[in-house]
Amino acid sequence: MRISCILKQLLAAGLCLTFLAGPGAAETRPAKELFGGAKLPSRAEPAPFGSYAKGCMAGAVAIPTDGPTWQAMRLSRNRRWGHPRMIALLERFSKDAASLGWGTGILIGDVSQPRGGPMLFGHASHQIGLDADIWFTPRPAQPLTPQEREDLPFTSMLDKSRFLTVDARRWTQTHTRVVMQAASYPEVERVFVNPAIKKKLCETWRGDRSLLGKVRPIYGHDEHFHIRIHCPPDASGCKPQAPVAKGDGCDKSLAWWFTDEPWAKPKKDPNAKPVKPRQVMLSDLPKACAAVLAAPARTLEEATFGAGLTAYSPPAPSAPAQNIEAIIESATVLPDLGPVPLPRPFP
Ligand SMILES: [Zn+2]
Repeated sequence: MRISCILKQLLAAGLCLTFLAGPGAAETRPAKELFGGAKLPSRAEPAPFGSYAKGCMAGAVAIPTDGPTWQAMRLSRNRRWGHPRMIALLERFSKDAASLGWGTGILIGDVSQPRGGPMLFGHASHQIGLDADIWFTPRPAQPLTPQEREDLPFTSMLDKSRFLTVDARRWTQTHTRVVMQAASYPEVERVFVNPAIKKKLCETWRGDRSLLGKVRPIYGHDEHFHIRIHCPPDASGCKPQAPVAKGDGCDKSLAWWFTDEPWAKPKKDPNAKPVKPRQVMLSDLPKACAAVLAAPARTLEEATFGAGLTAYSPPAPSAPAQNIEAIIESATVLPDLGPVPLPRPFP
């Protein structure tokens, strides 16, 4: 496109600029930049498109930054957006966790971006509003300020002086019950935890063993666990994942994590040319995602789910750029928020 642009400049300088800022511009930038730049969700019926790790989300709603039994963390990331079913589940789970004695409720990490999609940093999944991270740190008695929510360090549940071992000084029976509570909801498809934590659950869980099968071992996930829900029944554009294998998963598949294989450094061929990984572009995502990106926005106030107690305004966008998000954003007026006084039903 650059070359054709230079040619066009020779012919008609004015046209070229329009061309660069037009629909073609989206395709010159990786999808993570386009979706990472979206500040608000699209004004549309909630709909996930594509799969957990390759897709986007129309009509997302935000979990309020503060609720009776939760607080959303790292507000500056603007990733507390999800499908209403995900957000409703988080609210319900927060209540259940609090009644299990998990502090005063849960601390919520990343859900999805306002329009889902790939992220500039962090996750491979969380792209369609059906994934959410929950801290292994309970919500404290004294609510955290927005700054504390930026700064509070994660606490690992592992004893780092040993190989893949849960830290017995930190892990409690309540941790077990909270993770298994998350796995108990029918809409939950999988819960991801560190292999050491899965092992601990296998050894100590005395409840319904069939629920253990949903709890899947994975790298990381020692400071938070990850809840994934099924594609909603009416979401024809949502691509489900293969169902989990039958059984509790406390078997060979778990034992594999305690071998060298998953932790071995990949062997490098000294003669191989370094390959730059290809960036995911908008055209790699489901077709509907281009429309999700270009659609007009809902305001933060309209799109906050249920009864918000206080609201948070994301920092004003920096210098305007000649790109598709700037065009989308310019159509959007961020409301002057202040405290949101009254609970109101989500339309
Ligand atoms: Zn996650």
